[in-house]
Amino acid sequence: MPDLLADFHTHRLDAPAGATINLPPHVLDAPDSWKPRPGLNYSAGIHPWNVMPGAPINRWLQSLEQLASRPEVTAVGECGLDRLHGDFALQQNVFRKQALLAERFHKPLIIHCVKAQAELLRFHKELHPHAQWTVHGFRGNALAARQLLAAGFDLSFGRHFQPEAVRACPPDRLHIETDDSDIGLAEVAEAITPFLPPPAQE
Ligand SMILES: [Zn+2]
Repeated sequence: MPDLLADFHTHRLDAPAGATINLPPHVLDAPDSWKPRPGLNYSAGIHPWNVMPGAPINRWLQSLEQLASRPEVTAVGECGLDRLHGDFALQQNVFRKQALLAERFHKPLIIHCVKAQAELLRFHKELHPHAQWTVHGFRGNALAARQLLAAGFDLSFGRHFQPEAVRACPPDRLHIETDDSDIGLAEVAEAITPFLPPPAQE
């Protein structure tokens, strides 16, 4: 069964243990001054919305390298591709660099993907990652879910999801998250549970 008690991706810095807390962008500006709370897991990445011409991308990538080497940072991301926001060509370049960084540090990748699934699948095919890639906040339909699953991706579902995609996802490859919403993980779990397969009989 999926772990319905672990928040796979949240922006809440006060999230409980078990969550993977996404570091806010300003940490990339000053990685040395970041103080992780003991016992918590974090993810660090450059969000595609911040990938703009003129942004200090190289400096952020250096910070990311430093952060990704720390044991408290258990994933790289969120990073990704968003055709509706920002500079799509530049995003692809910066995504590739973050994916390679994740490989180098043997850390999984948390991916934001909006209207760019074909490109994402292309990257996965090209880079053949050993690290697990997971599309977070997945809102696609069952067909889109099956394509990603067949390529080796995991899926993380949040407040908005299509039940048919949850049904298409093997429970052990399904994660849940609160992301930047104001609802709790228990509410997400409650919304997802009716679409999960019934627990196996003992
Ligand atoms: Zn997020």
